[in-house]
Amino acid sequence: MSYRILLLGAPGAGKGTQSTKLAEEYGVEHVTTGDALRANKDMETEYGTPRSFMEAGELVPDPVVNEIVEAALADADGFVLDGYPRNLDQAEYLSEITDLDAVIYLDVDEEVLVDRLTGRRVCDDCGANFHVDFQPPEEEGVCDECGGELIQRDDDTEETARERLDVFYENTEPVIEHFRDEGDLVEVDGEAAPDEVFERIGDVLDE
Ligand code: AMP
Repeated sequence: MSYRILLLGAPGAGKGTQSTKLAEEYGVEHVTTGDALRANKDMETEYGTPRSFMEAGELVPDPVVNEIVEAALADADGFVLDGYPRNLDQAEYLSEITDLDAVIYLDVDEEVLVDRLTGRRVCDDCGANFHVDFQPPEEEGVCDECGGELIQRDDDTEETARERLDVFYENTEPVIEHFRDEGDLVEVDGEAAPDEVFERIGDVLDE
């Protein structure tokens, strides 16, 4: 069975880490709007480039992200969707283009999110995630997976991280409420260790 999984959570909740593992374990596509936009930051759209929105911690306009997601889902047999939908209009669009088998919310406290985001380092080559305190690489600045250089994302500075969290609470929390009201939401404690979180998600999918 090819699962169609939606992973919801604030920036820093662990969506990227868990999605990568889920994609490997279940043989589904990892569809992430954040990565797609970072790879196309300077793409010209009628709203300007994604870069200006992303560097301010704001949402890129819906038509741009909707198009990315529609194309990615059309090509995917099963998928784990990460970073979308981020507002109710996107959620409605998603419901028009696909059906979901599981909707999982990774719940993490706000101050934990700030610490995770500002200490996060990502591999410039393979995208693997590290944290200066919670998950340091063996050698500072060097990716354990591929030897690539670890960098801090432009939007992981404290100011922009807090702005992204404000955007999350204002725009994306209603999406979580929406799925909760529909009775489709499964909540997982995102503050547990990554392996435990992964196991818990696996249990949800097996049910
Ligand atoms: P992420 O890597 O998911 O934290 O996304 C990084 C940035 O990309 C966000 O702060 C937004 O500027 C933009 N972005 C990612 N996904 C979306 C989305 N679904 N809707 C609007 N903007 C998005």
